[in-house]
Amino acid sequence: MSNEPSRREFLGTLAAFSLFPLEQEKPDLILHNANILTVNSKEPRAQAVAVARGRFLAVGSDADVLNLAGAGVRKLDLGGKTVLPGFIDAHSHPAEAGLMHLRMVDCDLRSISAIQAALRERAAKTPAGEWVLGFKYDDTKTDDGRPLTIADLDAAVPDHPVHIQHRGGHTVYANSLAFRKAGIDEKTLDPPGGKIDHDPATGKLSGRVAESAQAFFENAVPQNFTREDHREGVKLISKMLAKTGITSATEAQGTPEDLRAYQDARDSGDLLYRAYCFINYRFINSMIEAGVRTGLGDEWVRVGAMKLVCDGSISERTARLSVPYEGRPNDYGILVMTEDELYTYGRKAHLAGWQIGTHANGDVGIDTTLRVYERLQKENPRRDPRFRLEHCTVVNDDLIARIKALGAIPTPFSTYVYYHGEKMRYYGAERLNHMFALRSFLDAGIRPTQASDYPPGEFIPMMALQSEVTRTDRKGNVWGPKQKITVEEAIRVGTINGAYASYEENLKGSIEAGKLADLVVLGRDPLKENPSTLVTIPVERTMAGGHWTFES
Ligand SMILES: [Zn+2]
Repeated sequence: MSNEPSRREFLGTLAAFSLFPLEQEKPDLILHNANILTVNSKEPRAQAVAVARGRFLAVGSDADVLNLAGAGVRKLDLGGKTVLPGFIDAHSHPAEAGLMHLRMVDCDLRSISAIQAALRERAAKTPAGEWVLGFKYDDTKTDDGRPLTIADLDAAVPDHPVHIQHRGGHTVYANSLAFRKAGIDEKTLDPPGGKIDHDPATGKLSGRVAESAQAFFENAVPQNFTREDHREGVKLISKMLAKTGITSATEAQGTPEDLRAYQDARDSGDLLYRAYCFINYRFINSMIEAGVRTGLGDEWVRVGAMKLVCDGSISERTARLSVPYEGRPNDYGILVMTEDELYTYGRKAHLAGWQIGTHANGDVGIDTTLRVYERLQKENPRRDPRFRLEHCTVVNDDLIARIKALGAIPTPFSTYVYYHGEKMRYYGAERLNHMFALRSFLDAGIRPTQASDYPPGEFIPMMALQSEVTRTDRKGNVWGPKQKITVEEAIRVGTINGAYASYEENLKGSIEAGKLADLVVLGRDPLKENPSTLVTIPVERTMAGGHWTFES
């Protein structure tokens, strides 16, 4: 098809490289005496790799690879340590999260008093009257058994307006000064689709606002991020991801500013992971007019899919379901965009050669999204469109059959069972056996990915492995045991499947000669580990493009 992005263009660099016979290349670095799990089915185990110009030059036994070493080649004995391909986080919000880490107080703390202390500390360094901003607060994760109140925030920080975002992104907590600056008082009416909470006993503001009511704060809270701030944000999050073994990540809600930030960070040498930058549908017209489509870029910064949003969230219980939430008989969740809107934007992007990634969590959301994809492909068939279902949380046999028939890619939350166990009860035991359904996807021959959705979810790949393999939360509760997969399967999901989701399976995702030299060195072998302690395996080193991006 004329509108099909050609694979040759995608892999241009690889094609050029293969003009030079690999054997004539001299290695820059050899890693040897290692337990290498290659994720290459033709050669699943190796002891050594040689790296040249950012790629794997050779993979094999110590004897074979060390034989390539000439004078001046650096050699590193890994002492039997386990090596895996670098992890690929196929749905995350790193550039956005980097900016938040740059400016805001991380409120992912286990008590209200700890959050107060962190806010107080920030306020002490902030001129009076200026905003103290926080993020990653989670009302279900403090020991106090109650949410933050306006009184808690006033007590901690009386002289600065305080604005704290919930980890899920759908609610905000603020102090009295912040409410005054936002123009909200006890008598302010709820906006359509939003809620300003009041203390039921006194009628006073409780400190929490939800959904569209968050907009009251938008004009009041400073959003003056400079181009340099965006670059710094990518730099900061780069270090955080590298530390956990991530070498590639999808920016799942990207904007032109994110795309620029990635290029700026690459130019300054601060980009430590390969970014597949989705573009939000609001920007798609200008992108198409400029002749941009999925795949443009290089192995560090590449334009990803167009992002659409079909329904609500799992962690905040707004995903659109066919069967209501447990204990809330009339609550089916919400649809964010209509099927018509999804089709109209989808058609435009599909015809222009874009991959499409649609946020679809509940079974109704997934059904709606699949119907749009099926229609696009029927009306304008494209070879290998790799439609993506972002999250694709609650499924059934019919949806799985349609995903398989379409060749679509689900990107389910990898760490939710382990990290957000306390939220699982809203879905019920039966439904949990059809959520984050890796077993079902793999059995059907579908290629699901590892995906954190950070900040809402944790991005640590070892936590993803434990969550997927044990389906057990931090308190030992098991959620949806029918969807357990093996450690080996979880590693494939977190590596080669992530590469496939961005059309880069010939470029990365396994340790093979010719592929990008992206790998992680672990302190222990996950295949020999008790599955309930996988999360404790230390990452000792991370390499991307032949350079160490993290060394412990
Ligand atoms: Zn997301």
